[in-house]
This record gives sequence, structure tokens and C-alpha cells, in this order.
Amino acid sequence: MLRLVGAVAPPATERVPLLESAGRALAEDAPADRDYPPFNRSMRDGFAVRASDLPGTFRLIGEVRAGDVFRESVGSGETVEIMTGAPVPDGANTVVMLEHVVRNDDGTISMGDPLPSRTNVSEAGCEARQGDVPLKKGTRLDYTSIAWLVSTGHPTVEVFRKPRVAILATGDEIVALEDKPAVHQIRNSNAFSLAVQVARAGGDPVLLPVAPDDLAATVKLIEQGLAADLLILSGGVSAGKYDVVEPAFAQLGAEFFFDRVLIQPGAPTVFGKARGKFFFGLPGNPASTMVTFELFARAAIDLLSGASHAPLPLTLGRLTRPLRHKGSLTRFLPAFVNCTEVTPVDSKGSGDVASLTRANAYLVVDAEKLEYAAGELIPVLLK
Ligand code: AMP
Ligand code: MG
Repeated sequence: MLRLVGAVAPPATERVPLLESAGRALAEDAPADRDYPPFNRSMRDGFAVRASDLPGTFRLIGEVRAGDVFRESVGSGETVEIMTGAPVPDGANTVVMLEHVVRNDDGTISMGDPLPSRTNVSEAGCEARQGDVPLKKGTRLDYTSIAWLVSTGHPTVEVFRKPRVAILATGDEIVALEDKPAVHQIRNSNAFSLAVQVARAGGDPVLLPVAPDDLAATVKLIEQGLAADLLILSGGVSAGKYDVVEPAFAQLGAEFFFDRVLIQPGAPTVFGKARGKFFFGLPGNPASTMVTFELFARAAIDLLSGASHAPLPLTLGRLTRPLRHKGSLTRFLPAFVNCTEVTPVDSKGSGDVASLTRANAYLVVDAEKLEYAAGELIPVLLK
């Protein structure tokens, strides 16, 4: 992927209303417009004092709530009752939690423990100084970045344009969703699962009609697909007599970066460039298409969307039962993750879409390790 970074021009940008920017890559830096927090903010309900007075008994001189300001200064031996989110009054530098004080009958407040200054106080500018850039160009915006953009006053935001991603399913046996398949035919599920994956990755999916397993017809549809920013095909990349995707690209003078990966499902995955556009030929078994999209195509969409990072959500889970496999290729098996535990989902193979609907992750099974015990940690790719 690194090699490709220079090969892709930065996408055009557009200004959109803030809520429409979620999921898009930010095309401008979002600096702090003032200090954050803008004032010394109490993090607790309690009593503001000078830390050097602790422990002791204090004279209560007033209160300050969130949205208000205490205009006087807190002197030695004095305290102000303070609420979470309120500005700590001048003179005070520490907040003692409500739960840790005793209210005396004469109205004074006793606080028994010594505390360092700045306890329970978020100091002005400690999160970001005015002009700092905590949220940078190229970040894919999620709900936390939206919160920052609201804090810093952005009703609209400059984002990169979404790449248009053409999706081309191939196969004589594939029929459109609206059509009733004959007994030997199946509906085009890959085009739709890919469309959802593309949209989730930040691309704009464009569905092409199904390509039959015929060289000339496939070349024609590929040419249409190459009008988009990225072309993703499903099926037709194995070694069968009617797998015409690679020959079709070869006829178009394509450059192939790889046409095999050491994983199962998904071994015959193809990645290349034709007429200045990148393309992926993903194997047609639904699980192969889904897994190889997540492993390879998603990163390309990140890159084409102006995102500066393409992280893969790979984590570790503890197996709830033992696992064996036959080795030789790294395998991606459907699984269900709950908290730190992961349970393999029974599946009848890469065509078993029904089993995939019960999975929220894929186990990543090491090619060299043939047995896993229950309780063992195993890498997991989140779905
Ligand atoms: P292929 O990669 O073309 O050899 O296809 C492998 C398997 O995936 C075959 O059983 C196909 O019928 C199935 N398949 C191919 N394309 C699709 C598709 N678009 N939707 C659902 N299944 C497909
Ligand atoms: Mg096929």
C-alpha cells in the first residue's frame, strides 16, 4: 500500500453540513479555536479550596454552578461549593469531592485529607491550547471527531469527495435480485454485500450489470467499470476454463501487482491497474469476496478517499472451544466475538452465506499451527 500512496492524486474536496461529514475523511485541519478547556473546570461536585490549607475546617463563602462564575477570590481557610463543569474560582486550586467532606452544624465544612493542587480540576488549556491541531486532515470522521468539530464551531466541514467504486459481478449462473433463479442459478448476493462494504468503507458504490463468462462481454463491462475511481469484480479469477477476468484485463493491457495470496478463502485474489485505475478481482465465493474486500480493497478505498490511515481491526480473542485445521494457508473462519471470548461458527464452506449471518468476526488461523486449545488466544478480524 505504501508504494501506492504517491500513485494516487489527492481527491477533490467539498464542503458539507457537519452531520453529513460522518464517515468521510477530513480535508482540512481542525485546530483548537481557544484553549480547551477554556477555563479551570471542576471535574466533580464538591468544594473548591486552596490545596495548601488541607486538611482543615473551612468557612463557606458561596457556591458556583456550571454556566456561572464566582466573582470573588477564595482566601485561606475559605471554600466555595462547586458543581461539575463550573469554573474553579480564583484563589482556589483544588476541588474536594462532596462525598469526602463533613458539613458541620455551624455551617463550616471539614475536609480530612491532604490533596495536591489541581485535584479534580481540568486546567485551562490542558487538553488543547488555542492553535493546537488535535484533529488533522485525513482523519476519517466518527462521532468523537464530530464532537470536536462542534466544540470548535464548525457548522460545515471540508471533506474529501467519496471515490466512486464500480462493482462488477461475473458468472453465467448469476441472476439479478429481481429475477427468479432457475434451480441451477443463484442470485447476485456479492454485488450487494460489496456495495454495503464499499459504502461502509467511505466509497460510493455503483452496480454494473452481471458479466457473463465470456471474454468480449467481460472486456466491455470492465471498460465501463474503469470509468469509476476503483473497480471491484467478483468471480471469474480462478483457474477454470470459463474464468475470463484475468484474460480480459490482459487484453486491456493491465498491470498485475499480484494474482494470488496465501489465504483461504480468497487465494486467487487479483490486484492491478488498467487505464490508470486500480482494480481488484475477488474470488466469487461469498466468504472469499467478503474477506478479501476487508483485507485488501478497504485499504484502497481509504487511500482514494483521502484518509491518512487504513487500520485493520485485528484483535485477540480467547477461544471457547478447541480448533483444528489442515494448515498450509492462513485461514479466515467465521466466528462470534463476545467481550474477549470468540466462538467459531459452524460453516459448510465459503459459499455458506447463512452461516456468515451468524458471525461478527473471522478467526485468523495460522497456516503453521494445526491445533488450538480452548482458552488459547487467537487473532480475530472484526467483521
Ligand atoms: P467463481 O469465483 O466465479 O469461480 O465463483 C465461485 C463460487 O461463488 C461459485 O459457486 C459461484 O456460483 C459463486 N458466486 C460467484 N459470483 C457470485 C455472486 N455474485 N453472488 C453469489 N455467489 C457468487
Ligand atoms: Mg464464476
